[in-house]
Amino acid sequence: LEINTIAELKAMLSSERAKGKTIGFVPTMGYFHDGHLTLMREAASKADVVVVSIFVNPTQFGPNEDLDKYPQDLKHDRALAAGAGVDYLFVPSVDEMYPAGFKTFVEVEGITEGLCGRGRPGHFKGVATVVAKLLNIVKPEVAFFGEKDWQQLVVIKRMVADLNMDVQIVGVPTVREADGLAMSSRNSYLSARDRQAALALSKTLARANELVEAGERNAAKLMQKLRDFLATEKRVELEYIEAVDPESLAPVDEVKGDVLIALAARVGGTRLIDNTVIRQKLENSSDLF
Ligand code: AMP
Repeated sequence: LEINTIAELKAMLSSERAKGKTIGFVPTMGYFHDGHLTLMREAASKADVVVVSIFVNPTQFGPNEDLDKYPQDLKHDRALAAGAGVDYLFVPSVDEMYPAGFKTFVEVEGITEGLCGRGRPGHFKGVATVVAKLLNIVKPEVAFFGEKDWQQLVVIKRMVADLNMDVQIVGVPTVREADGLAMSSRNSYLSARDRQAALALSKTLARANELVEAGERNAAKLMQKLRDFLATEKRVELEYIEAVDPESLAPVDEVKGDVLIALAARVGGTRLIDNTVIRQKLENSSDLF
């Protein structure tokens, strides 16, 4: 199941391809939770062979981020992957992915500058680069990404279109804990009190839906109401909350059609993100069609 070198994975997958098998791919940083497993099951339902990578990619972490303490449990991950129908678990070393002399990066412009890109400069350059490399190694027909990382999903779709990569990118809805908290490997950093406080994030997004339903269409006013709502949870330090177009990620003034509400916040030092797409029928659309 587990493969550590690019050469070995390429050899295994070319023999699968020679047998006419389609390949589905799920890139991850490991420490699996039900969000990851949902992506894997989705891949197993859409492709003959499922490849999952575990690689904590150093180029997408800033100097003061959690690269050194990112949670890891390879033994547990192997067992969960096997149970989710994964055929190949690719776990390369940093040297395998970035050997001496490495010089090439993928920069997706514009859409990487706002939202998480503002607080994490260089993050999406690292993400686009490692995903491009992984797609070139695995050469899947289809690859799966979580909507929890909405901006990442948009960036990857843009890169794949712009670089003419022959892979279908599938977005998978966010998997949540029973109380609404979006699943994340980083939730393991949270103390019991912070875990409780972190619920304010998904509650704020639920509140956004209620406020829009109740008629609030002005994005600035809506964001102010949501900031005020979130401010009642003192353990949560908001980084941003924004209303943007779900595809272009451009800020919107008015909540009409589909609007992405995305936020990032620190809870006891742990940076968490979440989002929701508010979907409204446009005035002149009809249920008949
Ligand atoms: P990560 O290991 O955090 O880099 O995540 C690997 C993949 O799983 C990415 O495509 C994420 O968007 C996706 N993912 C992470 N958390 C969730 C979640 N709660 N629901 C759905 N997908 C997720």
